[in-house]
Amino acid sequence: SSLQSSALARVKPSATLAVTARARELKREGRDVIGLGAGEPDFDTPENIKEAAIAAIRRGETKYTDVDGTPELKAAVAAKFARENGLTYETNQIHVATGGKAVIYNALLATLSPGDEVIVPAPYWVSYPDMVLLAGGEPVTVIGHEADGFKLKPAVLEAAITPKTKWLILNSPSNPTGAAYTGEELEALAEVLRRHPQVWVMTDDMYEHLIYGDFDYRTIAQVAPDLYDRTLTVNGVSKAYAMTGWRIGYAGGPKPLIDLMRKVAGQTTSNPSSISQAAAVEALNGPQAFIAERGAAFEKRRDLVVSMLNQATGIRCAVPEGAFYVYPSIEGLIGKTTEGGVVIDSDDTFATALLDAEGVAVVQGSAFGLSPYFRISYATSEAVLEAACSRIQRFCASLK
Ligand code: PLP
Repeated sequence: SSLQSSALARVKPSATLAVTARARELKREGRDVIGLGAGEPDFDTPENIKEAAIAAIRRGETKYTDVDGTPELKAAVAAKFARENGLTYETNQIHVATGGKAVIYNALLATLSPGDEVIVPAPYWVSYPDMVLLAGGEPVTVIGHEADGFKLKPAVLEAAITPKTKWLILNSPSNPTGAAYTGEELEALAEVLRRHPQVWVMTDDMYEHLIYGDFDYRTIAQVAPDLYDRTLTVNGVSKAYAMTGWRIGYAGGPKPLIDLMRKVAGQTTSNPSSISQAAAVEALNGPQAFIAERGAAFEKRRDLVVSMLNQATGIRCAVPEGAFYVYPSIEGLIGKTTEGGVVIDSDDTFATALLDAEGVAVVQGSAFGLSPYFRISYATSEAVLEAACSRIQRFCASLK
């Protein structure tokens, strides 16, 4: 019999991690490689947050905590939802886990039975479909086309819902496109969901604070309070506070769901790190001004990357509302040939050929469920981005 479980056999290894590994391999061979694959801010965790963690260690907060978060962190999360999203959650409606990833997985594991369907709008964050599969459910992919800003249209949602639909996953701003839903767009989706009371909504708001221009950020439970009783609002400190390594994510939702999620955590991870939780309290309750300062830097990088990519032959790059990704189309390059004789027949070939020719690591759109595109993470310095985009321009110009 096979070592691998039947559940794991349904899952693909993470494509973003594969690109990172290939780039690292080329670097070891002495190649000059620019990695634009990683999904984390290049900024450091703010000093006051680090100090709060050190103080927690000194106070002896180094033991098990409540399984789904300390009372202090749950209170800070509840205050955040009230302050920033106009959402009221009691502390017994809050779940804290080891990253946003674990929060989402706990929710899926807690609720999916074999055959249950989860609607996942593409382009999607790579982990959603595979986490659904691991939890025994069936991902149902629907497409948000570039012409619609990579967003799910209400009619497409309506057509995808069946009696077996358990969840719709929303992610705004999105990884990998940076697209964010307006209040009106969320209301239009809510209108569809009202006709299907069996469908729950998981909204992944991880990039909430990375929003540019005068975009007015909204989350669905705020826009459609009548869906509050079947919405899980997921967020975390990883992206907004440059805390990817600390592993703290959180969610607010109806108590019966939160109780089930606690049951999962209680038999798997137990609590997330007590020290990281103390740091997250400071992140949420402490000064917030640096978020806007860093946001301004990200916005400049976005504008630089979008502009330079649109000057590359055969590439078309939409302007995203948020996050730190762009998702350009390579439709105009399909069928062309590299100097080495490789025909660009897909975004997979494009990403490999670009890495081989110019040492720029990007992630192919096929990993996110919509081709022919690729994803660039612009969470790196302007100098590096400028160099990378120049190389991409040179690569595109070299294709025949
Ligand atoms: N959700 C989205 C859309 C993400 O891009 C990520 C990280 O890449 C996560 C969730 C996971 O965040 P965390 O590092 O807190 O687990």
